[in-house]
Amino acid sequence: SKNQGGNKITYFSTGMNDQAMVRLELESYLRKALQKNEFHLCYQPLLDLQTGEITCTEALIRWQHPHLGLVSPAQFIPLAEETGLIEEIGAWVLTTACAQTKYWQQNGFPNLGISVNVSAYQFQQHAFIGQVIEALNVSGLDPGYLSLELTESAMLKDIVYSISVMKSLQELGVKVSIDDFGTGYSSLSYLRNLPIDTLKIDQSFINNLHDDPSDIAIVKAIITMGQGLAVKIVAEGVETHEQMNILRDLDCHYAQGYYIEKPLDTDAFEKGFRTVENV
Ligand code: C2E
Ligand code: CA
Ligand code: CA
Ligand code: CA
Repeated sequence: SKNQGGNKITYFSTGMNDQAMVRLELESYLRKALQKNEFHLCYQPLLDLQTGEITCTEALIRWQHPHLGLVSPAQFIPLAEETGLIEEIGAWVLTTACAQTKYWQQNGFPNLGISVNVSAYQFQQHAFIGQVIEALNVSGLDPGYLSLELTESAMLKDIVYSISVMKSLQELGVKVSIDDFGTGYSSLSYLRNLPIDTLKIDQSFINNLHDDPSDIAIVKAIITMGQGLAVKIVAEGVETHEQMNILRDLDCHYAQGYYIEKPLDTDAFEKGFRTVENV
């Protein structure tokens, strides 16, 4: 009867872990998201603190689901990694970001670079280098304008393999950034041996920069080290004028964060970029 059916549903929903339900639902939606065209990229500028110019943007994925709304990458990227879906999603991000940047270069922003996040699992896949080459070939983007953001944990998982991939990227002319620098379990010795172009200081060191002397000391030490190693330094999560001034005084190369610009969709970026340039 109807009543029994109702009881059954109650039985299952209380018997099953809520989190597991959410995860299963999210996974089934995620499997269809690419075909259904539910992803788009936002672009967050990096400000050159010496010249005041925007020379590069970071591509950040967004998932707009018809029922769930906007799902944060912090939520679905780990799931995409666990399920292996990151391989396809990551390839899509690379292709889309390179094509968009090439388009912008041909339409008023000739020297704009692009920075693309690469997850640990994606970086370890043997198909990865091929995906990078494919994205460059299809878009026609000069490899020197592409930078890939890796985390220390991604890189240190299998250091021998990572070195070979990073050397291949270097041969292609693609740049490598270390994202969230300072948060991973890291041995600084890799900085000596690996072809790294940029370190992005994690935003946790920037948040209280204006009133925490130990954060200033850490940031200052990273910048000094970067100068010695000829590695460019980016500060992320810059939210205030004070933070930006401190970073400029410390000779940090680039700043990124809400104070400069939040991640923008393509239309907003085209308008915002002109405004920033006109300042
Ligand atoms: P992330 O690479 O460290 O990116 C920085 C995050 O901080 C972004 O969150 C950005 O929107 C946010 N952010 C930027 N400026 C500020 C600021 O001034 N204050 C604060 N509080 N936050 C700021 P988002 O876009 O939600 O991305 C979260 C994470 O998801 C990223 O962290 C990255 O690890 C991952 N992710 C995003 N897009 C991709 C992608 O295309 N591929 C992969 N593999 N991972 C991605
Ligand atoms: Ca990043
Ligand atoms: Ca980061
Ligand atoms: Ca992060």
